[in-house]
Amino acid sequence: MPNSGFTFRRVRESMIETLLNLGIKDFRVLDAMSQVPRHIFLDEAFWPRAYENRSLTISYGQTISQPYIVAKMTELLIAHTNSRGKVFERVLEIGSGCGYQSAVLSFFCEQVDAIERIKPLVQKSRENMSKLKINNVMFKFGDGYQDWDSSKKYDGILCAASPREYPKDLISILKKDAKLVLPVGGTSQKLNVIRKCENDEVEEIFYDEVSFVPMLAGTTDDGSDV
Ligand code: SAH
Repeated sequence: MPNSGFTFRRVRESMIETLLNLGIKDFRVLDAMSQVPRHIFLDEAFWPRAYENRSLTISYGQTISQPYIVAKMTELLIAHTNSRGKVFERVLEIGSGCGYQSAVLSFFCEQVDAIERIKPLVQKSRENMSKLKINNVMFKFGDGYQDWDSSKKYDGILCAASPREYPKDLISILKKDAKLVLPVGGTSQKLNVIRKCENDEVEEIFYDEVSFVPMLAGTTDDGSDV
């Protein structure tokens, strides 16, 4: 493509304004999202629509999440913190897809451990992170139901695929007061925030209706089981 001098900055600014109008209040989130070029994660054919508030296809039957939902989930995950910069040591992301949400999370954590079940997407997300020079996200090809490291403790878990019920054993790898943010349900899904309290008890809060791909068990080399 000839260099027209067009930088996407203006359309990205207008996306941030849309998020603000939709009720995203945490300026830390808006600031991070204003620094992540979303078009990088998409095929060039989709670049003209890259900053619209909609999910878009990224092949293998998957999508890049809608900017509003990325903003909302990040806002919920960090809501109990109030400083700027890296408020968390370690966050687990399940269903990292092309890595857009991972890039946003990288602003808030020393380390992001991301798991994705479709092999070529893992490769793609690694390439996307190196294009953006983000080096605190580690992508793992695996199944988010089980392939996380049970010896680590997380300051938060964000999952971008919808299980029928939330996987209860994820609570065991959360630190106290940390949250699991994820969609739960089948044809009808709700955004859930599950906070770990004293004695491994949990507090569950249900938010808006959402529409995510299902959280599927196992892994695939080519996405053919989706
Ligand atoms: N986070 C992405 C959205 C990806 S869509 C973004 O920023 O745009 C959800 C992803 O979850 C898909 O790539 C899908 O393959 C993945 N997924 C579904 N079930 C999974 C599982 N059990 N473990 C890991 N990833 C899973």
